[in-house]
Amino acid sequence: MRVVIDNIKAWFTKDTASEGESAKLLIVLRILFSSMMLYGIVGSIYCVCTRNIEAMICYMGTLAIYALMFYSSYYIKIITLVIVSNVISVACTIAGYFLLGSTVAVQSFFITIVVVCYFSGYGHYIIKGIFALFACAVYYYLETRYGNTVAFLPFSITERVYIRLMNILASFWCVATVCYIYSRDSQHLEGKLIEYNKILRQQASTDTLTGLSNRRSANEFIEKLIKRNDEKGFCVCMCDIDFFKKVNDSYGHDIGDKVLAGVAQALVENTTDECLVSRWGGEEFLIIFPNMNGDEAKLMLDTIRARIKKIEFETGSKTFSITITYGLAEYGYDGNAEAVVKEADDKLYIGKENGRDQIVF
Ligand code: GH3
Ligand code: MG
Ligand code: MG
Repeated sequence: MRVVIDNIKAWFTKDTASEGESAKLLIVLRILFSSMMLYGIVGSIYCVCTRNIEAMICYMGTLAIYALMFYSSYYIKIITLVIVSNVISVACTIAGYFLLGSTVAVQSFFITIVVVCYFSGYGHYIIKGIFALFACAVYYYLETRYGNTVAFLPFSITERVYIRLMNILASFWCVATVCYIYSRDSQHLEGKLIEYNKILRQQASTDTLTGLSNRRSANEFIEKLIKRNDEKGFCVCMCDIDFFKKVNDSYGHDIGDKVLAGVAQALVENTTDECLVSRWGGEEFLIIFPNMNGDEAKLMLDTIRARIKKIEFETGSKTFSITITYGLAEYGYDGNAEAVVKEADDKLYIGKENGRDQIVF
């Protein structure tokens, strides 16, 4: 059983005559051809049962035409296959219209043809548009000119009912198959694109070493707070590790990186979820305290300062600790993001001048 399924799969997925062509379109075309072959077989069997030999010959003809196209798909270029199959399908639909009559929904195959034409990756949209207009014009012409013409082949009322059902089912099946295969892929691609965009946005706003928000997203956050205009405003604090160069010089850059990551973690752990801790650059961090006045932020910073001093960083045999100088500034309700950061930076500078390891507010 498995061998049979694998063989059938191989018939549909076997490669094209020339390289670099759309394997998906080829599979779609083969599915459509085989669907039309099945349509021909079912129609033929039905006509044998109803002893309508002329109609049976027509259905056998359909079967033969689409079998030939299926076979050709292994040998001719897809672009040729698309054009030939569209032309033949239009011809078959017109022939079917006269042979089976206008009341058995042969016309619905025009819609199938247009859908296949649009989904195939080949050809300019203008050409596709012209083709769709052509199909529409043929459809309209047949309906207005020959809409009341009696079918060339003789059919009973019951036969008409079944043939109409078969035509509707076959044309809908073809449209649904094409749409399913292409929409499934585009949905999948769209999902992936959204995911990649999320990752990209995340990467663009995150500092890789510490996992904190970077300067860009800190600035965006400040702009957001300015727009939000909370009652208490907000505060920002510029924090700079004291004598960090010495850490690098004494213990190496890797240990320096570990210190930066450790400080980042401590800052996050000792601030509330509303606060944003960001890496402003190098060994500088900017903490943003939304809806808080300077006194409230200062209290939080006192705890941070005390805790960070107690952290012991290990370097093989030794341990060491670090201190940080903090410059705290309140937003001045003037819509100026740069001013508040600059004020915090100036205060940090004062703290450095005054002996470091302190909060300047
Ligand atoms: P101060 O107390 O005046 O701030 O002195 P400092 O030594 O901390 O300041 P300085 O600006 O002289 O040195 C900052 C150092 O931070 C120099 C630079 O190599 C180091 N640094 C910046 N970014 C990184 C990083 O990502 N990893 C490591 N390991 N070091 C960094
Ligand atoms: Mg610095
Ligand atoms: Mg420093």
